[in-house]
Amino acid sequence: MRIRVTLFSMLFCAVFCNAQTSSSSPSGGIKEIPGFDVTAIDKSIDPCVDFYHYACGNWIKTNAIPADKSRWGRFDQLQEHNFYVLRDILENVQSKPKSAMEVKVGNYYAACMNEAVVEKAGAAPIQPEMKRIAAIGNKQQLIEQVAYMHRNGLSALFAFYSQPDMHDANQTIAYIDQGGITLPDRDYYIKDDAKSKETREKYQQHVQKMFELAGDAPDIAAQEAKTVLAVETGLAQVSMDRTERRDPKNRDHLMKTSEAESLAPNFELAEYFAQNGAPKFTTLNVGNPDFFKQVNEQLNSAPLADWKTYLRWRTINDYAPTLSKPFVDEDFAFNGQYLSGQKEIEPRWERCVRATNIGLGMALGQLYVDRTFGPAGKERTMKMVKAIETAMHQDIQQLDWMSDTTKQQAYKKLNTIVNNIGYPDQWRDYSSVEVKRDDYAGNVRRAATFEVHRQLQKIDKPTDRKDWSMTPPTVNAYYRPPMNDINFPAGILQPPFYSKDMDDAVNYGGIGVVIGHELTHGFDDQGRKYDAEGNFKDWWTPQDAKAFEERATCTADEYSSFTAVKDDKGEVKLNGRLTLGENTADNGGLKIAYMALTSIIKNTDVKVIDGYNPQQRYFLAYGQIWCQNVTDQEARKRALTDPHSPGEWRVNGAVQNSAAFEQAFGCKAGQPMVRENACRVW
Ligand SMILES: [Zn+2]
Repeated sequence: MRIRVTLFSMLFCAVFCNAQTSSSSPSGGIKEIPGFDVTAIDKSIDPCVDFYHYACGNWIKTNAIPADKSRWGRFDQLQEHNFYVLRDILENVQSKPKSAMEVKVGNYYAACMNEAVVEKAGAAPIQPEMKRIAAIGNKQQLIEQVAYMHRNGLSALFAFYSQPDMHDANQTIAYIDQGGITLPDRDYYIKDDAKSKETREKYQQHVQKMFELAGDAPDIAAQEAKTVLAVETGLAQVSMDRTERRDPKNRDHLMKTSEAESLAPNFELAEYFAQNGAPKFTTLNVGNPDFFKQVNEQLNSAPLADWKTYLRWRTINDYAPTLSKPFVDEDFAFNGQYLSGQKEIEPRWERCVRATNIGLGMALGQLYVDRTFGPAGKERTMKMVKAIETAMHQDIQQLDWMSDTTKQQAYKKLNTIVNNIGYPDQWRDYSSVEVKRDDYAGNVRRAATFEVHRQLQKIDKPTDRKDWSMTPPTVNAYYRPPMNDINFPAGILQPPFYSKDMDDAVNYGGIGVVIGHELTHGFDDQGRKYDAEGNFKDWWTPQDAKAFEERATCTADEYSSFTAVKDDKGEVKLNGRLTLGENTADNGGLKIAYMALTSIIKNTDVKVIDGYNPQQRYFLAYGQIWCQNVTDQEARKRALTDPHSPGEWRVNGAVQNSAAFEQAFGCKAGQPMVRENACRVW
C-alpha cells in the first residue's frame, strides 16, 4: 500500500521509468510544451561532436531542476502538465460530482487533501496493525501475518502475484518470488564501497526515527533499526540481481504447490496460500527457488522477535506517506532528499493527485480521457503505428545476419502484436471500494486491497490481455512480452511527443520513435525469447541467435563505456547489460521510425523549417524529447536500478550508430557522433 510502489506491475518494458519522487511546476498552470523548440538548441556546439548538448544545451541551461524534483526533463514537464489537468478535474468532482464514480474519486482526493484530519489521526491508522503483529506468538502466526499483509497490499518477506504462465501465456497462474527489501536494490545491502556503507548508515538512522515516531523509546528503536537492516541484508544476499533477472530462463521454475511447500517448509506455504486471498491453485511459478531455500534457513535461525520487528517496519514504511506530517517528513528526508537529492517535498495537491491516480486511476483516467482524448487521437496514432510496423517489416527483410527461417518467425511475431491506444476498452469497476471523505490512510489501504484481490482473481483463468498496466494520464508507454502487445496511454499522445500542428518529421522523431521503441522491445535481448503468443519459447536458429548475441554485446559494451555520474563520491558507469533491452529499443526505434518517415516524405517537396530540413528536424525532435537535468543522487540511484539510460546517452548512444544521422548533419568519420564500429541489432 505504499502509494508510490506498483505491486503488480507486469513484466513490461516501458519507454522510461518515472521518478519515484517528484514534483510541482516552477511556472504553474496548464500550458502546451512545444514539440520542437528551436530556442533549446545550443548552436555553439557541433552536432557531430555532441548532439545531445547541441539539441538540448540551451534548454538545460534555462531549466534548472525545481526544488521539489530530483529530475526535470521535457517528459516530466508533460507529466506535470497532466497533473494540472487532473487537479482541475478532481477539484471539480470533489465539489460538484455528477455520478457515483465522481463522488468516489472526489472523496478520495478530498480525504488526502484534508490535512487537519490526517494530522489529528497521527499514528492512529497503524495502531491496529502494530497490535496484530505484537500478538504473534509463533512462526505459523508470522506467516499468517505475511498473508494478511499481502492481501492488503503491504509488501513483506517475498512477493506473490499473478502473471501469464511462461509456457502457456493464454493461462494466468500464481507466482511467488524474491522480495521484502526496502532500499531500491539488493546491491545497496551488499556493496562495500564508501557510498554504500554511508547509505546503510543513513538508512539505519531513518528506520530508528520512524520507530520512534511510532512510539518506541530511542534505545529500543536503535536496536530495532539494527535488526531490520540485518534481516533485510539476509534477504538481499540471496536475491538475484537485476541483470540476471532479465533472462527469463532464470525465473522459469514451474512446480506443483506441494513441491514449493517442501522446498521451503518454514514458509508454511500451504497455510500462506490458504490465507492470502488467492483462489485455490495446484501449480505455480517460483521466480527464485534459491531465495526460498536460503530464507527458509533464516526463518529458522533468526528469533521470532526479529521477524516481528521487521514486519512492524514494513508496515510503518508502507503507511508513512499517508500518515501525519512527522512521518511524511521523515519518509521524505530519506527517500526524497538523501536517496534522490530532492530539496523539497512536492506540494500536497500533487501528492494527492498522484495517490488518486494510483488508488482509483482507471476511474480518474476515464474522466481524463473524456476531457482530453477523442476518437481522432486514437485514429491518428493507429495510422502512425501501422506505418512503423510496415517499416519494421522492411527492416527485418533487409537484415543480412538473419536467415529466412528466423525471419518468417519474426514476421509472424510482428504481425501478431496487439496495439492498445489511449485507454482500455472496458473501464474498471471500483464500486466495491469503500472510500471515506475523512480517512485517507484507510482509503489507500482499501484501494490496495481491491487491486490485490482483482489481480489474484486472475489465477488459473484465461489471460486477460485487455487489462492495462498503466493508467491513461500516464506519460509513458510499454510492451509486455507475455501479451505481445504495445500500449500507449493517452497521457503521452500529446506535445512534445505528438502535435497535429507539427510537421511529420517532428512527430516521427517524437511519438514515432516511442512506437518504434516499443515494437523493438518484442525483439530485444529479453523480448526475442518470447514467441508470437507470448510464450517463453525459442524460435531462433542457433546461428541467428549467435549473430544476435554478438550484435547485442556490441551495444552492451558501447553503453557500459558511458558515465552515468561523476561527483565527489566517485564515478559510476552505466551497466550496459542492465540497460541492453532499452538501448536496443532506442536504436531500433530511431531506425524504423526514420524509415517510416522517409517513405512518407519521399514524394513531397523538402521543406526547411526553422532552418532545418525534415531529416534534421526528425533527429532534433528525438534529441529534445530527452532534454533533462538530474541530481547526482538520482543519477547514482538510477545507474543501479533503472534499465533505461539517462537522456544524454539515449540520444548520443543511439545517434552515433545511425548512418541516417551522419548523413542528415554531414558528420565525418572520426567525429565523436560517428562510431567507428557502429552497433546495429535492428
Ligand atoms: Zn522501453
